[in-house]
Amino acid sequence: MSLGEFDLIAKYFDRPARRAALGIGDDCALLAVPPGMQLATSCDMLVEGRHFLSTVAPERLGHKALAVNLSDLAACGAEPVAFTLALALPSADELFLDGFSRGLLALADAHGCELIGGDTTRGPLNICISIFGQVPMSPGAGALLRSGARAGDELYVSGKLGDARLALEAFRGTLMLAGEDFDTVRCGMELPQPRVALGLALRGVATSAIDLSDGLLGDLSHVLQRSGVDALVDVDAVPRSTVLRAQPLAVQRLCTLSGGDDYELLFTAPPGRAHQVSAAGIATGLTLTRIGRIVQRAGPRQEAHIGLVDADGRAVLHASASFDHFRA
Ligand code: ADP
Ligand code: MG
Repeated sequence: MSLGEFDLIAKYFDRPARRAALGIGDDCALLAVPPGMQLATSCDMLVEGRHFLSTVAPERLGHKALAVNLSDLAACGAEPVAFTLALALPSADELFLDGFSRGLLALADAHGCELIGGDTTRGPLNICISIFGQVPMSPGAGALLRSGARAGDELYVSGKLGDARLALEAFRGTLMLAGEDFDTVRCGMELPQPRVALGLALRGVATSAIDLSDGLLGDLSHVLQRSGVDALVDVDAVPRSTVLRAQPLAVQRLCTLSGGDDYELLFTAPPGRAHQVSAAGIATGLTLTRIGRIVQRAGPRQEAHIGLVDADGRAVLHASASFDHFRA
């Protein structure tokens, strides 16, 4: 590398610690967890060709690498505190590093989440972020989990689903989009907005939550599996953009139900908390849409079942596979 490892860290990633007791530069960073709080931690890896295309602008890649981790904290109702960055780079490409670090640190600043350490090495481009957040140790209003959905709960989703998958299909050449529409859905894919404020607002309101990274049906089935329940989903109620609505129904359903990379929150809440749910939507400026409900699992079945219906209540058939990195 022309720019040495330590110069690179100093130039692009080392900034004074504000929240951490000790940031970059020592063998460990130090983080204090306030009394009554639990540490929430998650880790996500981004590999070129699998999680992002080589065409993505470095600034957007920096944004997305952190966004997917913030989205995990959001799903747990945790407040972001800090993160570490393990980075493998083919070379010390300063054009790349400049854009990447700007996109990454801008989103970090927007969420008050600081970079406290990492590791840097030469190798095929690979980005691995570990993130740390805090959540109160409170029985009724602590971390949101996948395991809390109960029969009778309503099922909600934030924002709109499917644009990221639509953009991916356009990149793959399986469909054509007008230039402006392509730019719009491309933003959905490359600049996801983690729903951190919503996760915080749903503590004590939602009974379960998950962020949508692998597609609605696949991620919903994780919640159902952990909670031991089934669900009914109205596929026509799933919110989608006007760009996606212009596509054939089969494309709309593929993108909204099995899309992936949405980074919206899917959550459940009892009907009696509907007004608290809408208050959370208003407080965060997000559209929250009721797309179905949780039902009891019939019989001793191990596998979760998702019943799909359309607006007229007719059963809908859909291959419910979610995005699987070892199959796709
Ligand atoms: P060690 O050899 O003890 O693992 P390094 O020499 O790899 O430490 O790193 C020096 C310091 O720089 C450490 O504090 C480490 O956390 C930090 N660091 C290394 N790479 C990055 C990075 N990509 N982003 C932020 N901090 C980094
Ligand atoms: Mg090291």
